[in-house]
Amino acid sequence: MKRFGLFIGGKWVFPSSGKYFPSLNPATEKPIARFASGSEHDVKHAIDVAEAALPKWKNVPAPKRGQILLKFAGLLRQDKESLAKLVSTEMGKVLPEARGDVQEAIDIAEYMAGEGRRLFGHTTPSELQNKFAMTIRVPLGVCSLITPWNFPLAIPAWKTMPALVCGNTVVFKPSSDTPMCAARFVELLAKAGVPKGVVNMVTGPGEQIGKELVSNPKVRGVSFTGNKQTGEWIVKNAGIKKVGLELGGKNAIIILDDADLGLALKGVVWGAFGTAGQRCTAASRVIVSQEVQKEFEKMLVKKTSSLRLGPGTNPSTDVGPLINKKAVEKVHYYTELGLSEGAKLLTGGKPGKGKGFFYEPTIFSEVSPKMRIAREEIFGPSLSIISASGVEEAIKIANSIEYGLSSSIYTRDISNAFRAIEGIEAGITYVNSSTIGAEVHLPFGGVKGTGNGAREAGIEGINEFSETKTVYIDFSGKLQRAQIDTD
Ligand code: NDP
Repeated sequence: MKRFGLFIGGKWVFPSSGKYFPSLNPATEKPIARFASGSEHDVKHAIDVAEAALPKWKNVPAPKRGQILLKFAGLLRQDKESLAKLVSTEMGKVLPEARGDVQEAIDIAEYMAGEGRRLFGHTTPSELQNKFAMTIRVPLGVCSLITPWNFPLAIPAWKTMPALVCGNTVVFKPSSDTPMCAARFVELLAKAGVPKGVVNMVTGPGEQIGKELVSNPKVRGVSFTGNKQTGEWIVKNAGIKKVGLELGGKNAIIILDDADLGLALKGVVWGAFGTAGQRCTAASRVIVSQEVQKEFEKMLVKKTSSLRLGPGTNPSTDVGPLINKKAVEKVHYYTELGLSEGAKLLTGGKPGKGKGFFYEPTIFSEVSPKMRIAREEIFGPSLSIISASGVEEAIKIANSIEYGLSSSIYTRDISNAFRAIEGIEAGITYVNSSTIGAEVHLPFGGVKGTGNGAREAGIEGINEFSETKTVYIDFSGKLQRAQIDTD
């Protein structure tokens, strides 16, 4: 079976531990390849290499850095189908969604390539004569990028592309569940012309190598996407450096009594069971007006019961496997918890039979907002239906959780739509559309327990990976004192 080392200084190197771990196909439980189990020592080495590569890379003109990203986008496009198959095989999502994962990486690469010719600062008048004032962007330095498995190409690209165009060098730590996608990712970056040492990849258990990635003083920026507990740990251990966190969600779709129920049905099924519910933006709560609840539940159960479970690579599959055994156990734990809390199971509620980490799309009704199944992130195909008397109560319920990532409302009433836009505590609100479907030129991220104010993608992605430097140029030839010599 193929074995991968650590990607440091532009080549594959042996891990100092001498140990390797397998990446499994979640639909078959068979190993795909083996990957190096890095140690703190390896992480230190990768950080040193990234630091050594920094002076040269940050002096490459940003438009030239952008050209390399554009070439990378082209390589992804050329390999789109084989990469999509790899994503589907290693992560489990169905092929059309896996193609979307690759496309998102292409989109962000192209968007950030264009930033190479912008990276705008500001100019603004000085309060003094013959003095010029402006801001410019400078890179942070070495950045640690730590990513989850659910978008094994898109999320690494969301972080790496802005980091590189801003002139940073990178140590990338992918999820231990999707290292094969990460290996292809760094190989393609090297092929596109990213110089040696600019992007380094260390695989291995986050719990063991995370501390060094996060707390090493040579690292000036940490960008993390993953669960809230890990994010909290990172903030505590990072010390004084720039930290961007994209954490969990418990996203709600509100359906009012004037909604187009057919449209809402499509949005709920896509939001709750697309990617087998393993999206940070997945819809895990439906908050529905009492008047239409029974009718909507009937429609939803009928549609959900017809979804076909199977390997993501099989074209007839609607819902692929979960990422690993632990994920199946977690979803089932919440099914049992929901039943013990008094919720009514409408459909699903069981792991798949035989090999593979499958779980039936599961729907609970008669859920109260206080139940744990309505508040905690399950990160699987499990949906809670909560009833509400109208828009105000629906918004209150939507906000009654610790997270604030995505949200959605289905209504034909424009004033209710605006109430939701203003009232829901979330980084993203959709109107008459599901909770998923981010586009790369808009900022992405959440409020409350979902993050620490950072946003990815769009121009905000550039903010995450650059510092602002303020520049004053005094061409008066004399000492001019701000706030004092103002007459
Ligand atoms: P984890 O937090 O378990 O893992 C994410 C990454 O962090 C992995 O690479 C993991 O490595 C690493 N890691 C684990 N422990 C540490 C540590 N102590 N220090 C540094 N790194 C560490 O999350 P999951 O992979 O389970 O991803 C699912 C979560 O991600 C969900 O909560 C989901 O909502 C969230 N998410 C948020 C998004 C957003 O933008 N808001 C988008 C997508 C997902 P290893 O694999 O080796 O354990």
